Amino acid sequence: MPQRSRAKAWVLLFLLLVVAVVGSVSYLAWRQTAPGVQSLTTPPRFLGQKTPFTVVLEARRGNVAKAEVRVVQSGKSTPVAMKDGPLGRLEIPVVVDSAALGLREGSATVEVWARDDFWRPLRREDRAIAGYPVTIDLTPPKIELLAATHYLSPGGSGLVAFRVTGAMRTDVSAGPLTFPSFAFGPADRGARVALIALPWDFEPATPLAIRASDEAGNTAARGIPAEIRPRKFPRDTIEIKDAFLQAKVAELLPQRPTTAPLVDGFLTINRDLRRQAEETKRRVGATTADKPLWQGSFVQARNTKVFANFAETRTYVYGGREIDRQVHYGYDLASTRQSPVPAANEGVVVFAEPLTIYGNTVIVDHGLGLQTLYAHLSSTAVKVGDAVKKGQEIARTGSTGLAIGDHLHYEVLVNGVSVTPLEWWDTKWIRDHIGRPLKEAGLPEISGAEARDEEAAARPAPRPARRRR
Ligand SMILES: [Zn+2]
Repeated sequence: MPQRSRAKAWVLLFLLLVVAVVGSVSYLAWRQTAPGVQSLTTPPRFLGQKTPFTVVLEARRGNVAKAEVRVVQSGKSTPVAMKDGPLGRLEIPVVVDSAALGLREGSATVEVWARDDFWRPLRREDRAIAGYPVTIDLTPPKIELLAATHYLSPGGSGLVAFRVTGAMRTDVSAGPLTFPSFAFGPADRGARVALIALPWDFEPATPLAIRASDEAGNTAARGIPAEIRPRKFPRDTIEIKDAFLQAKVAELLPQRPTTAPLVDGFLTINRDLRRQAEETKRRVGATTADKPLWQGSFVQARNTKVFANFAETRTYVYGGREIDRQVHYGYDLASTRQSPVPAANEGVVVFAEPLTIYGNTVIVDHGLGLQTLYAHLSSTAVKVGDAVKKGQEIARTGSTGLAIGDHLHYEVLVNGVSVTPLEWWDTKWIRDHIGRPLKEAGLPEISGAEARDEEAAARPAPRPARRRR
């Protein structure tokens, strides 16, 4: 081999060697510096007496081999959860039981320790891959009951006044129903009030409570002492005629095939459309002013005759056979056709459109969750957002929706739950059951609803009989 070719071969070999060494070193360096496990979660900022959360980890190379969650406070590190892989994505459910772990109120850190199974030339020391500052808060909110309506009845309303400290969320519950509360009176007193409603079929043993929770998930509850006075509700039978079905099934179910039996259409309307309307009432109930807009008693259209009561259980009969049973949630008031419908009190229109069985409907919000509903209207004179005065004409009566004949279907709602309008038509009831707890709580009273002397206030609520002439 000539001398020059030999030299060339050596150079080539040397270069290959350099490439091999550089390649291996960079490969090993890449292996060594490949990013490890990353945490995809942020734990809650506050840890309470028992706080659950989930830590989600993901390996950027290989799998998560092992992970541990620790709480570190004053230099003491306590494991609270661990899980082994190998998994590309690892979810670790964590429950921090602060008392059992001996954690004190104040600051701490939630640390996530993890390693992957990706091969590296030098094994990494186990270390925290993420640390989150948290605050340990073990003190539940404090609830102080200031005053509440003494006598409540199924299908009736009441008021609760209270003070809560250290809470993020507060509400008042009647069994499964919840009612929002609102800051009320001077800010430095920190008082809140809630209007509550007992549904017509309320069981007297159902708990009534104020509930509060803070950001750390600590909860507190306080029962509301109230005497539940029973109420009886009427029953009625309604005979469904073919002429009525012909008119109403076409009106309320326009897409329905004309060959299907009308009575089936009626049942769809009476059950499904009725339930849809109930859901809408609940939803609209959340749109409410954070202060009372109303003053004094609620007014009723003049010269009207009551021909159906609140919470009347109606049995529907067709062709001599019972086909359905439903509860009627309002008062039916009739006078002449297309007579003016006054707003029962001052408020703001929050709903003005057709509402299934209710036909053309207007809902007026009076604040703190209190609303009035006007249904079967032939025409409406207001739109959503309009402020209305007590007695202002907002609509004309009619027979739209599931109505037999021209009349006004009138309801009072508390956070979407129908209550008897009787109480709100009665100035004395309002003074004794809404004004009095406000007075006892030392809060500003509502104009036209001021509590009178004790003796008058001690008398029970009016009986839900038919109205006196
Ligand atoms: Zn009605």
